[in-house]
Amino acid sequence: MPFAVGLTGGIGSGKTTVAELFAELGAGVVDTDVIARALTGAGQTAVGEIARRFGPQYVTADGALDRARMRKLAFEDARAKRDLESILHPLIRREAERQVANSTAPYVILVVPLLFESGAYQKLVRRVLVVDSDQETRVERVRRRNNLPREEILAIMASQVGQAERLRRADDVIRNDGDLAALEAQVAALHRKYLDLAAES
Ligand code: ATP
Repeated sequence: MPFAVGLTGGIGSGKTTVAELFAELGAGVVDTDVIARALTGAGQTAVGEIARRFGPQYVTADGALDRARMRKLAFEDARAKRDLESILHPLIRREAERQVANSTAPYVILVVPLLFESGAYQKLVRRVLVVDSDQETRVERVRRRNNLPREEILAIMASQVGQAERLRRADDVIRNDGDLAALEAQVAALHRKYLDLAAES
């Protein structure tokens, strides 16, 4: 199994941006959000299971999960959210493990937004890297990117582990409050560290 580092952080902290920088340096990147999208795309088995549980109105004309509709239901109905997760999470976890195992990169960055919340990934990773950013900066980024109302962003944040706990449980931290150059420097330093750790292991 390749040396894997779990990458997590709150919504809008910059996980995807950081993962892309690691990939540019030659790290393998496995992203559970990307896997989730692939598993709910047109004709995927997860879509059939979701349709059986929630009804065909949650499937688009081309056979993919209707994400906007499902997100709305999950947001309003805690039980629906749990059921959706019980269908998707094991599939995502299994595929993530498969991709990590198959990677030929010197080490793998495994992006898991809810790493601390779910617990299912702790055994797969040797270290945890947290991307940290001020709450206001994160709200502003997500508002601009997703056009979500502020209350909805704050509700998502409230459902996630708080920044303090995240930092307490981190092995490494990247601060993402500055510009891209500041981010690149931190990623480059960690890349060297992970290459060393991977070579030792
Ligand atoms: P989510 O949890 O919502 O998937 P994320 O943690 O993956 O978010 P990104 O998608 O990397 O975060 O970043 C959120 C938004 O903020 C993106 O539009 C990204 O381009 C922008 N962004 C991230 N970091 C910076 C930065 N240092 N400077 C400017 N924009 C940034």
